[in-house]
Formats: sequence, C-alpha cells, structure tokens
Amino acid sequence: MFTIDDLADRLGGYLPMEEIQQVRRAFYYAEQAHDGQTRRSGEPYVTHPLAVANILANMHMDHQSLMAAMLHDVIEDTGVTKDALAAQFGEAVAELVDGVSKLTQITFEDKAVAQAENFQKMVMAMSQDIRVIIVKLADRLHNMRTLGALRPDKKRRIARETLEIYARIAGRLGINTIRVELEDLSFQAIHPMRAERIKRAVARARGNRRSTMRQIQSSLQRRLDEDDLTGSVVGRQKHLLSIYRKMHDQRKPFAEIMDVFGFRIITDDVDNCYRILGAVHNLYKPVPGRFKDYIAIPKANGYQSLHTTLFGPSGMPIEVQIRTREMEAMANNGIAAHWLYKAGQTERPIAVGSHARAREWVRGLLEMQRHAGDSLEFIEHVKNDLFPDDVYIFTPKGDIMELPQGATAVDFAYTVHTDIGNSCIACRIDRHLAPLSTPLESGQTLEIITAPGARPNLAWLNFVVTAKARSAIRHALKSQQRSEAIQLGRRLLNRALSSFDTSLEKLPAERLTALLAELDLANEDDLLETIGLGTRLAHATAKRLADASLSGDEDAAGSPDASPHTGPHTGPIVINGSESMAISFARCCHPLPGDPVIGHLSMGKGIVVHRHDCGNLDELRDDPDKLVSLTWSNQIEQDFPVPLRIEVETRRGLIAELASLITDADANIERIGIEERDARLSIVNLTILVKGRIHLARIIKRLRNLNHIGRIVRARS
Ligand code: MN
Repeated sequence: MFTIDDLADRLGGYLPMEEIQQVRRAFYYAEQAHDGQTRRSGEPYVTHPLAVANILANMHMDHQSLMAAMLHDVIEDTGVTKDALAAQFGEAVAELVDGVSKLTQITFEDKAVAQAENFQKMVMAMSQDIRVIIVKLADRLHNMRTLGALRPDKKRRIARETLEIYARIAGRLGINTIRVELEDLSFQAIHPMRAERIKRAVARARGNRRSTMRQIQSSLQRRLDEDDLTGSVVGRQKHLLSIYRKMHDQRKPFAEIMDVFGFRIITDDVDNCYRILGAVHNLYKPVPGRFKDYIAIPKANGYQSLHTTLFGPSGMPIEVQIRTREMEAMANNGIAAHWLYKAGQTERPIAVGSHARAREWVRGLLEMQRHAGDSLEFIEHVKNDLFPDDVYIFTPKGDIMELPQGATAVDFAYTVHTDIGNSCIACRIDRHLAPLSTPLESGQTLEIITAPGARPNLAWLNFVVTAKARSAIRHALKSQQRSEAIQLGRRLLNRALSSFDTSLEKLPAERLTALLAELDLANEDDLLETIGLGTRLAHATAKRLADASLSGDEDAAGSPDASPHTGPHTGPIVINGSESMAISFARCCHPLPGDPVIGHLSMGKGIVVHRHDCGNLDELRDDPDKLVSLTWSNQIEQDFPVPLRIEVETRRGLIAELASLITDADANIERIGIEERDARLSIVNLTILVKGRIHLARIIKRLRNLNHIGRIVRARS
C-alpha cells in the first residue's frame, strides 16, 4: 500500500525538507480528522487524500497544493472549520481547502447537461486560486479511478459530470494527461461494452502494426541522425474516447482510424523543430493542406507543436508532431507545467498568488501571440475562458444564469423575464431573505419573490448593472408616470367640465373626436396625459369641449354664455401621497400634510404642491388657470422632509442629544449641518422626515424642552 513515507520520498526529488515536513503534518492531521471513516472499498479514508496528493506530486505541484489535497475533504466530511485549518496550516492552505469544498458542494445535476458550458465557467469563476481547480481535478481523477462497485446509474451520472465539466476544464487549462485519463475512465463507465470492444480491437491492431511502426520509427530516427539533428522519435497511441468519437461522430470505420500511424519527435529548441520538419518532409512526401504551425500560433490553452501528415511507405498516412521538451511538458501538464518547471530550477518560485502566476501564464501566451501577430480575438478568448468576469447563479430549478460581475437580484429577475423584474419585491439567496440590492456571487441559488401589482422602484436604478434591467425599469416607470398623468388629467378635466354642467362621460363622443383631430392627438389618453402633465390647461380644454357641445346640444341651452359656475364636481383634488408621479412636492417650501396647500400645474411635471403662503406662488398667481385647489388625504403613509433651523448654545454632546430626541420621536434625520456663529452660539440646520404637521409640532415641542436651545424655525429655501 502507498504510504506517506513513499510520498515523502518522491517529494524529496523536488521539494525542500521543511516543506515535505509540512505535507506530512497535513497528512497526520487528515488521518486523525477522518479517523474511523472508510472508503467504499473498506480502506481507511485517508488513503484517498494521500492518493490525490500523489497525483499532484507527479505534476510537481507546490507544497501548499499538496497540503490542501491532504485536507480537501476535512471541512466537508469532519467537524473541522476553515479557521481551525488557517490556525494550523496558514491562510493560504485554508483558502485552498475552502475553495475545493465549495466546488464539492455544488453538484451538477443531469437536468443541467445543456448548461455544461456555464457550469465550467462557474467552476472557474469560483476558484480565485487556479490551484483550487488543479486539486479538484486530481480529486476527481482519483474518484474516477476508484469508481469500483458503485451502482451503474450512479456511476454514469458521475462519469457524465466528469466528461462534461472536469475533463473539459482540464482541456481548457491544457492539463492533457488528466483530461485524457478522465475521458477514458468516463467513457468506460458510461459505455463499458463499447470501451471493452475498442480496447480489444486496439490491442489486436497494435500487434499487427508493430513491425510497420518500428520500421517507420527507425527510418525517421535515422534521417535525424544523418542530418545531425538531436531529437527522439516515439510512437503515439490514440486514447479510447478519441477513437470512439472518430467512429461515432465522424462515422469512420475502426480500420481507417487505426490505419494512421502517429509519431512524436521531441527536440531541444524551436529552431530544431523547423529543421526536423524539413528533414521529415524530405524523407516522406507531405500530404498537402495538413501542415499546422501551432508554434507560431499556439492554441488557446497554450499548446504548441508542429503537426504534419506524410505519405508513408505504400501510401499509408503518418501523422507527426514535432515540439520541444518545454512544449511537450506544456502539452501534458498545461498550466501545471508552470510548477513542473520552476521546481527544476535552482531559484524556487515564491509561493504567493498562484492566481497571479496563472495570469502570468496567460500573459506568456499573449506574448507568443503578439509574435505570431494574430487577432485580438485570441487574447479575449483566453482571458474570458480562464478568468470569466461573470457570475453564475442557480435558479431554484437548478438552471444556471450568467450575469455580469456586480449583478443583483433585480438584474437576475429581469434576465429571467421582464414581468418578474417588474413585480419583484424581495429575494432569497441560498434560502435566506436578502435585500434586492445584494451583489450576487457565483454558485449561489437565487429565488425571486414577486407580488401581483408590485411596481419597479426608481432606487433600483442605483444598483442594477444590466442594460436590460435598466431599460425595463425606465420603461416601466415611464408608463407608470403616463398612467398616473392620465388619471390626474381625467380628474382635472372633469372638474373643469363640471363648471359647464357636463363631464367626459356625458359629452357626445364626436366633440372629443373633433378636438383630438384639431389638436393632432391620437386618442383621449394622450389628451388627458398632456393635461395631467400640465402642458395643456384643463379649463381651456373644458371650455372648448363644452362650447362645441353647447352649439350642438339643445339640452344645454340653459347656459348660453357657457360661463363657468360651481358644479358638483368642483371640490379640491385630493393628494394621496407618493404613489402619484404626476404630483410632486415643491422644494422651496416643503409642504407637509396638514399645511394649507395649493397646486400649480407646471409644464411637463404635473401638479407641484406648494404651501399656500409660499413666496414663489406670488408670481404664479398671475396665471390663475394653472392653480389647482388641493386637499390632503388622511391616509398618507409617506414621510416628508422638512428643514429646521435651530439656534443652540455651543455645548459638547448637544448634537447627539438632539439626534436621539428626534429619532425617539419616530422621525429620521436626513441631513444635519452646523454653522458656528461665535464661541457661544451655533446654528444647526437639520432636515428631518416627518409624517405631517402634527408630527412636526410634537417634535418641536420636545426640542424646546431641551436646555440651551434657542429659536426653532421651520426654514424655507
Ligand atoms: Mn475527495
């Protein structure tokens, strides 16, 4: 059985003593934490983390990754916390373990198969440190190797997830040794019979081809030697899944796939690669159109190599890959080759921010790309693939939604459907109620709570990040404003019409139609909207409608001069509060419920409510048609701001006292500012939110009871 001593021996090849000691310590800790737990095979559980660490050791990963491998199931399966791990093994290792645990918690259900792509990105986005993914891949690899006697359906589910997610991530990161093994193990779990058949066929074909392979290999090698080119030629085998895919997807017969002879030539430097290419093209004729230069233009995951196909003896195709040793390491280990390399050098890598190192790796790719002089698209591709700036969120049904960084529940709601966005009132993030403005994080499950009749809120515009949410909210608010303006316009017009003893309902339809045509308006609502918004006067409109109706209506003959008089509809308009966007409150005099008020129809804004003694009204009174009498409803829920100006004797702690008194009186402070008059006297400028005039009076009375308080004035601006 493989033991920690065996592992320590292997680590001696590339890690210093004290780091190996730390890996050992992590092993003993895991052994104790998992004490009493066994794997399905009956072995002690700790054999699993040990094997995972061993896989990472093959890639020469650093000691922190190995420690994280040892501890990777400790948070999930035992009572140990992240903090406890941080105290024992440092922040970096604890972060790695926590990252791996988070990936373990989200399981990819069958129903999400169509979203595999998003799931991959989510895994990437959740792994701030690229080592988290590498440890997770090693973990999955060992689990796949030991699938053993699981129920076939469960086996298939895990294998499908491995194939769709983890093998592809390994491919994306260029870690091909792991990708290939994951693919073959998954294939064998999903299609055990087909895998077995192909395996046997490959073995048979290999036997038949052995002498041909040897013959081609030695003639290639001989040509290199003759031309004084250093390089070693090795035969290449296709793995099971790639054979199956060729048969299945490209409908090629097995014989044709096995008909191709594959070789790889490894050499010292890039120059030699091209020289060797020349030499083999000299030996066998190249197949036109099959040459690919991935050295000049690397693949997105960093893969570099020359590929060519030759006509071999008696026309059989020979595929040749030519690359340097570094490129070979990159082809096998991808991003992990980084550690493989550094370890071989005398200068050891500093174990900080491996994410930064991954970025460096990408930058290396970009550098290559710049030399190759290809499009920017490549750069974007690599960046987005490896480090998506998006967040990935589960719906309650397990679907995955992709949203930009910083997106909130409101963005999510609008992404699902405009109606859901418009009627959302709250949300649950991972089953807990949360404010709609909370920025979302990858891997969270989000549930939107809606209410019929709910409306979008203007404040949402402050935190939504998606264009769709923004424009939908604006649109909803606008149509809300329109419907309110129409309502208000109807009230104003009916009120004006009542002084002519008629109303919109009583008016003959053709009068209205005629006026609409004259004003070039499409319908009644458009007319009412312009009245509600104050761009058209209700009284003048009423007069024209009434005049027209009088001339054609004999019943109305009783009022031949059509002069306005007081009718049953003439009461003041009632202010219900904030729900109406066609009514706003003047900032000059800050009217409060209970104050005598008067409305002014202001161009495009609807009715602006002023206190009846507001100085600004003096000039507005010249145009009495624009003034509307108003009264407060007695069911107003909203709070209103009111500015106060308070003279106080300068004294330590007075402001705090003021503030707590106001809060105790159920009012909120919106703004507070202090002007010092002199050493003795200060002026406090305060804006507080109150329910109305009576509420304010109560607060002022309490303030007067404080010591050191002078005059209190309700200020106007
Ligand atoms: Mn595990």
